[in-house]
Amino acid sequence: MVKKNKIDSICASENQEIKSGESHVLPIHSSSAFSYESIEDSIAVFTGEKSGFVYGRFGNPTIDSVERKLAALESHSMETSAYCILTSSGMSAISTLLLSLLSPGDAVMTQGNLYGGSTELLNTIISKNNIDILLEDLTNLSKLEEIFKQNKNIKVIYFESPSNPTLSCTDIESLSKLSRKHGKILVMDNTFSTALIQQPLSLGVDYVIYSTTKFLNGHGNSIAGAILCKTVEKRKRIWNYMKLLGTNCNAFDAWLLHNGLKTLAIRMERHCSNALSLAKYLEAHSKVKRVNYPGLESNTSHDIALKQMKMFGAVLSFELEGTIENAMKFMNACVLCTIASTLGNVDTLLLHPATSSHLNVDKDIRISQGISDGLIRVSVGIENITDIIEDIDQAIENAFK
Ligand SMILES: *Cc1c(COP(=O)(O)O)cnc(C)c1O
Repeated sequence: MVKKNKIDSICASENQEIKSGESHVLPIHSSSAFSYESIEDSIAVFTGEKSGFVYGRFGNPTIDSVERKLAALESHSMETSAYCILTSSGMSAISTLLLSLLSPGDAVMTQGNLYGGSTELLNTIISKNNIDILLEDLTNLSKLEEIFKQNKNIKVIYFESPSNPTLSCTDIESLSKLSRKHGKILVMDNTFSTALIQQPLSLGVDYVIYSTTKFLNGHGNSIAGAILCKTVEKRKRIWNYMKLLGTNCNAFDAWLLHNGLKTLAIRMERHCSNALSLAKYLEAHSKVKRVNYPGLESNTSHDIALKQMKMFGAVLSFELEGTIENAMKFMNACVLCTIASTLGNVDTLLLHPATSSHLNVDKDIRISQGISDGLIRVSVGIENITDIIEDIDQAIENAFK
């Protein structure tokens, strides 16, 4: 039923069956267990003969409804279906999925400029099981092909596009073709874009993960994650890991996510148009050295972005002239924009990677990845764009006083 709708209608939909006299909006089911009229009924649900819920860690009606909505968004206008598992956070979506895919002796190929938590997870926990983590430039496809020919242990390729915090894009379709040719499993973190901007499963990616904490919830009041795949069998396998690792999402956070999803389509439109306007303003500013935003024609990722993104996202970063002191003065002078280490909220948020997310990264490595002392990441909100630009403008002026 939902499939026939346009993607923005799916966002706004309540996504439940209408039953006379029952609540119109999705209720929060906070029961840890589910009861049965008879032992025969209980056996039928346990064996899967009959649909129903068993125990809160295994599944719950609120969670189920939100999973179906995220799957409907992800598979919108696609030939194939999508299936979703909600998890307790973006990090648990990544760890649950990777643990379900990898065995000792396997290797993961990934990029240097990932979300910081993902890099740390790979290097400190996943690598413990005798799993090699290889960092490569995933845009250099001919080099990747050479590596695939030499290293047969590589099982999973894990990537983001646009990447954090320099917003460079990887050609998803070309990487999918190459990974399929060599029998690799392709996993993508689509947190920065959401299905409103790009649908990686339709471009050949095997698994998509989200931190729903960011744009999908959009209001900064819920932590959760999601794993999306193309078949029921794959979902069942990951579900078994989720259930045994206990990385299930709780009903309240799922419900807050569901609330946020209703306005996702209009939020993303406003987020992205504001980000493009801010990027153009910054690009023309004499105190700004460089702007990283795939929506700018001057950006090296612009052509790839045009090919695979419907809009260019709401995260950008820019390098201020001067020293780290100027960057810090800028951050302190902002009034409307807030310093916060998250993104995807309705209000505009600032992050200074050199002193926060990348504090523990070796300075030479950090600089080589384009994360200079003057780099500032902006998660552009849905405020009136005139106010956002006015605030940034006065803060830049104050940074050089
Ligand atoms: C925030 C984030 C994560 C981690 O998600 P949590 O919900 O904080 O666990 C993973 N990937 C990206 C790109 C993120 O922005």
